[in-house]
Amino acid sequence: MVRLAVIPGDGISSEVVPEAVKTLEAASEIYEYSLEYETFDFGVERYLRTGQAVPDDFDDFIRSLPDKFDAALFGAGGTDPRVPTGISAQPVLHGLRRGLDLYANVRPSRLLSDDLTPLKGKTSDDIDFVVIRENTEGYESGTAGNFKVGTPDEVEIRPEYNTRKGVSRILEFAFEHTQRLGRTNLAMAEKGLPDGLWSRTFADVSARYPDIEARHVHVDTLAYLIVTAPETLSVIVAENRAGDILSDLGGAIQGSRGLAYSGCFNPEHEFAYFEPVHGTAPDIVGRGIANPIASIMAARMMLEFRGHQQAADAIEQAVRAAISTGAVTRDLGGRNSTAQVGDAVREALRNPNR
Ligand code: ATP
Repeated sequence: MVRLAVIPGDGISSEVVPEAVKTLEAASEIYEYSLEYETFDFGVERYLRTGQAVPDDFDDFIRSLPDKFDAALFGAGGTDPRVPTGISAQPVLHGLRRGLDLYANVRPSRLLSDDLTPLKGKTSDDIDFVVIRENTEGYESGTAGNFKVGTPDEVEIRPEYNTRKGVSRILEFAFEHTQRLGRTNLAMAEKGLPDGLWSRTFADVSARYPDIEARHVHVDTLAYLIVTAPETLSVIVAENRAGDILSDLGGAIQGSRGLAYSGCFNPEHEFAYFEPVHGTAPDIVGRGIANPIASIMAARMMLEFRGHQQAADAIEQAVRAAISTGAVTRDLGGRNSTAQVGDAVREALRNPNR
């Protein structure tokens, strides 16, 4: 049984997330699990209907999620010209990350088909790494601010917070994840103080994992390696901002932002949430051309998390099959609609040998 909270959010999310849910339903008819889900309409559309993007008891709602559900599937939150700035499904993201303390954001970068990458001569053997991004600290503290606004003396303060607890646990998570994947190579991306908290903690934690070859690589060098030598990378762990940028680059070399997906975990909790890495894509919203594969792969990752490996593998095979038959959206050079790609994935799921 999988109990799933579906929170599509804003922009193209209401187009792509339903394709992921339909795919989970289709897989549940074939594989050994039952799916129960409830959809929540937080975000811009709710604001337009009710005057509130999220309800008054939203913090309670977030806190109650792990009691009622095994996982959440979120889309994205972001700006919409129809509503005032700041109105969006973004509180969902902050609630899930900070409210539930789901601090480890795991963003795989794996090539689903060799011909999708813009990198010359690279294949799926070369592009297969994961970025683990710290999700609750860094620049996302919500404490930035400006004063003397609009004057020549304006000051903007944008602090970054790194706590010993936060840095230790994300590094430990990354080493454990490297072992879980059966890998032996981990790079820590940071460009902070030479003898700062990240460097010192990395030295301490890596000493406990002698079988893992651990390197401290500056984030700019890592960006260079992702493009020039992705085959040298296996697991990358990074502070919040660096992790965001590196994983978008990881998405780009997979072929499109519409392919990159992620899961957010806290190993002390049984609840986790999953989402596409892309945002609300306001430039293509409402046109039915958004790529649903990132959302479908996020749902696949959720099944893997819940232990339904066979169904998860079958969804990935179906995605690969759909791509190989050319059932792709415009971002991948195709002409198919969001719904047509979703249908092609489900068709391949039901008929894997066709
Ligand atoms: P955010 O600030 O929420 O990350 P953003 O505007 O920086 O949002 P996206 O919303 O991801 O980033 O959009 C960046 C570009 O990628 C846009 O041109 C958008 O159309 C494209 N894009 C994003 N997601 C998809 C998708 N699923 N399918 C096709 N194109 C996409």
